[in-house]
Amino acid sequence: MVEPEFWNREIETAPAEKIREVQLEGLRRTVAAALRTRFYHRRLKEIGFTSPEDIRSLDDLKRIPFTTKSDLREAYPDGLLAVERDDVVRLHTSSGTTGTPTVIYHTRSDLEHWTELTARCITATGAGRRDVFQNMMTYGLFTGGLGLHYGAELVGMLVIPVGGGNTRRQLKLMRDFRTTVVHATPSYMLHIYSRLEAENLTPQDLSLRKAFLGAEAYSESTRRKIEGLMGIDCYNSYGLSEMNGPGVAFECIFKDDMHVWEDAYIVEVIDPASGDLLGEDEEGELVMTTLQREATPLLRYRTGDLTRIRSGVCACGRSHRRIARIKGRSDDMLIINGVNVYPSQVESVLMRIPEVGTNYQIVVTKEGALDRLTVKTEIYSKMFTGDAAALEALRGRIRELLKAEILVGAVVELHEPGGLPVYEGKARRVFDERVGEQG
Ligand code: ADP
Ligand code: ZN
Repeated sequence: MVEPEFWNREIETAPAEKIREVQLEGLRRTVAAALRTRFYHRRLKEIGFTSPEDIRSLDDLKRIPFTTKSDLREAYPDGLLAVERDDVVRLHTSSGTTGTPTVIYHTRSDLEHWTELTARCITATGAGRRDVFQNMMTYGLFTGGLGLHYGAELVGMLVIPVGGGNTRRQLKLMRDFRTTVVHATPSYMLHIYSRLEAENLTPQDLSLRKAFLGAEAYSESTRRKIEGLMGIDCYNSYGLSEMNGPGVAFECIFKDDMHVWEDAYIVEVIDPASGDLLGEDEEGELVMTTLQREATPLLRYRTGDLTRIRSGVCACGRSHRRIARIKGRSDDMLIINGVNVYPSQVESVLMRIPEVGTNYQIVVTKEGALDRLTVKTEIYSKMFTGDAAALEALRGRIRELLKAEILVGAVVELHEPGGLPVYEGKARRVFDERVGEQG
């Protein structure tokens, strides 16, 4: 049995009442900071909040309206800045996956808090100062690279800040410096595996033990696939630039959902359509409030991400509540001939099929009045033996398994390895080519 390790045992295992106490203080601080921004000053005044003392209990949070991504865009570039510009030491923007980016400012203390949270995450996976950490997330405005970098240094890992892409160099670095831990998107990790053969390597030629995988939605079957192929342990890492970036929630050695740091954030889950608060274990949209941030405080920010909140102390001893693997963004859902389909359901089916390789695409088009779903997937080259009947049988099997899961018929296209485009950061998997037909 591996013993759980802690970066900050006292707070990570604090009793629930203690965490609520810290949260109430944090919420008051956040409201005080928010009142110093143009955006929240107006909004909070409308509901009668003019001082942090108006927050009497954590329940008062429910009276505050949600903050949305479009609020952040409207407040761009500095409507949400709560400190003097001279006190800001860095800014980050979101990747802009779903539109115009948003900006988040950090003071020195904000960066220190963020670094502490990422150090806790890294330690929770059992990684530490003996590890060599190759950070394959892009460095720059995107928070993926820099976000985990400082936490890794703080715990004392040897950090290789290579950033994304250039798979050949990644593999060379992994060999030369005996990298034991990597940080990447799951799609890039699958790509790394698919390049091993071309470089005359096998996973046994590497010293890799763990991967921190995040920045995009992926299924449990993808995790298992990567763990099986590479012979490593993979830990789910969740973050978004609006809540700093990586370090928001992470799996521990028990891989039993992701620990959220509740002294830094308040989490709620709502029905994305009505905005009503949902109970524990009910799936809906995650809403988050910052408790430590000075420069850009955010109250009840709608993340757009679908998950469930779980309470109860984890086998590792951490008491903070957990969130389930993210199913996707609420706006990822495709409506195909009237049926709701999440890309993650398609992925989950594909990655369970051993013949299926490491890359796929989902394309939706219009055929007359009907929607047509095409699933393109790479399969391993050993399948292309010239035996057409075997390929046809595989196609049929994939079609059936998909139909059983998503209840929609799909056209299945099989591609050779390397046949579909590769993404070094967040992958683009879904191509909805119906113009303005949805919604
Ligand atoms: P953008 O929203 O423009 O992509 P970010 O770089 O801030 O900007 O990305 C954050 C988003 O990435 C999250 O809101 C979520 O949708 C997705 N994400 C991050 N980590 C995970 C994860 N482990 N599982 C699923 N989705 C994730
Ligand atoms: Zn745990």
